[in-house]
Amino acid sequence: MALDKKAYEALEEIVGPENISEEPVILDGYAFQQHHGTEQAYGGLFCPRPEAVILPETTDEIQTIVRVCNRYKLKVKPHSTGWGFWAAPSSEGIIQLDLRRMNRILEIDEENMYAVVEPYVISSQLQAEAMKRGLNCHIIGAGGSCSILASTTSMVGYGLSGISTGFGGRNLLGAEWVSPLGEALKLGSLGSGAGWFCGDGPGPSLRGILRGFIGAAGGFGIFTKVAVKLYPWPGPPEMPIQGVTPNYYSPLPENIRDYTVTFSGSWDSFADAWYKISEAEIGYVMGKQISAFGSKTAVAQFLTLSNPDLDNDDIPELLESPDVRELTEELTGPTFQLTIAAHSSSDLEYQTKALEKILEETGGKIHPLFADPGMEELMHVMMIKVDRNNLIFDAAGRFGTSFGIFSIPDTLVGVAKAGEEVKRRHIEKGGLMDDGGESTWGGPYERGRIGGHLEELFQYDPHDPKSWQAAWNYLMDAALTVATKGWPPGLSLLPALALSEEKRAPFFAVAGEVIDLLRWQGRIKRAFDPNIVSDPGHYITVKEAEGK
Ligand SMILES: Cc1cc2nc3c(=O)[nH]c(=O)nc-3n(C[C@H](O)[C@H](O)[C@H](O)COP(=O)(O)OP(=O)(O)OC[C@H]3O[C@@H](n4cnc5c(N)ncnc54)[C@H](O)[C@@H]3O)c2cc1C
Repeated sequence: MALDKKAYEALEEIVGPENISEEPVILDGYAFQQHHGTEQAYGGLFCPRPEAVILPETTDEIQTIVRVCNRYKLKVKPHSTGWGFWAAPSSEGIIQLDLRRMNRILEIDEENMYAVVEPYVISSQLQAEAMKRGLNCHIIGAGGSCSILASTTSMVGYGLSGISTGFGGRNLLGAEWVSPLGEALKLGSLGSGAGWFCGDGPGPSLRGILRGFIGAAGGFGIFTKVAVKLYPWPGPPEMPIQGVTPNYYSPLPENIRDYTVTFSGSWDSFADAWYKISEAEIGYVMGKQISAFGSKTAVAQFLTLSNPDLDNDDIPELLESPDVRELTEELTGPTFQLTIAAHSSSDLEYQTKALEKILEETGGKIHPLFADPGMEELMHVMMIKVDRNNLIFDAAGRFGTSFGIFSIPDTLVGVAKAGEEVKRRHIEKGGLMDDGGESTWGGPYERGRIGGHLEELFQYDPHDPKSWQAAWNYLMDAALTVATKGWPPGLSLLPALALSEEKRAPFFAVAGEVIDLLRWQGRIKRAFDPNIVSDPGHYITVKEAEGK
């Protein structure tokens, strides 16, 4: 569908000819996104091509663009750093709003511990500035190169520092938001002229409506500036990074320790330790990291990362080695990474002693390989800067996630076991990468007070239709398992939001109450977005948004 010439001219007038394009060669770049899509979602490797891409620089320009879209019955889809298909148009007739020109950190308020950012500020950029001031920000598992605004406002925002930094939904403070009708609203304390410090007031709070738990994935207005919480950082103002890509490491300061803790295969001990660590209020970063790459291959991958003489081609040989097999057995399943970052020598002493006691009580062990200084320095960068999770694309080309339930450790252990069992079944049928079965990732939030999450990752080949189909079949089975067990849906229904209504119907059929929830979301969307200008595809479809 070609864009109406008058509409294009009206959009061009807003940003100038150099900041808008409808050239297929440019647009196709936006149609290929790293994503979890399967054939069922898109019928191929590509997302729908946008009608045009436009690069605004200010809130005023975004307001005018949205008004033009209302006038010409077009839809818009915001794209910050574009780390997933959720940032792509879900169908034809959509203008891609590429926000890369809005890339400034506007303010860092050290005293009140927040930063005000535009959409294209990445977490690593903010973290580097915050660290100079003894502060740090939450970074999601996707890594430091993601937009901090996007995961705080529009996605779940899970990350392994959650034990001390919460998750996306807890980090959103004051916000500026352009509604689907083109109004610019100032929300939270910002709305009453009291500054950025609070997401809910004094002033109007729309946080629940705009974001909720999972976020609207770009289907409900556009955030133009937001304040995010910052947290204390007891490390140095700059982390000295050594090595060459992808083998980056950083010496540990005296007050920081990185541990890999194992539980001889006992998930119950793993859960007990999780509770006790939360109660003792220790830890800066904590979660299951190693086996996320695939419990079968992860250790071999880590060995290649820590040794510049090894690369991916060495993995098959490493997997044959009895030593690597033994390590793999020890380091996957119920294990986690724990970073302790202490504010004083007595704090370090307390946290270390508390950990020792907890491990004594639960039978946990600090694994010697990862107590090796070289490996500790590598893990240190990985846990604090989240620099390497995107290596998950290396083995099969694409990965997906499932389960992802937010709950307490005892339930999460059940989730991990179920995830492994369901995935093994599908690996045996063929099509999914044989990652060994157990590839759970996740950890606690806010010292465990608001629970934690575990998700089951899987890997597949985006170039092989058989592999797409296997991924789809697995996702269906995972969603069904979650519903049958009576667990909250978590991330299990997220993939369905990429699908057309009829294709997602089977997903929703297994979780009836979610459909009610979506109907309510649809009513809210219609109230704010009567012309359905915000692409509803990954949020609420046109039919649902129209209340049908
Ligand atoms: C390797 C990998 C690992 C991942 N791990 C995690 C994880 O650990 N935790 C987690 O929570 N997620 C994870 N994800 C998913 C992740 O949340 C999203 O991919 C991430 O937030 C992508 O965001 P981005 O920062 O690149 O923003 P984008 O991809 O640009 O945007 C993300 C969504 O927000 C919308 N959006 C962007 N900007 C705006 C705006 N200004 N206003 C309104 N809506 C907007 C987009 O339309 C899109 O729907 C992972 C993804 C990958 C590829």
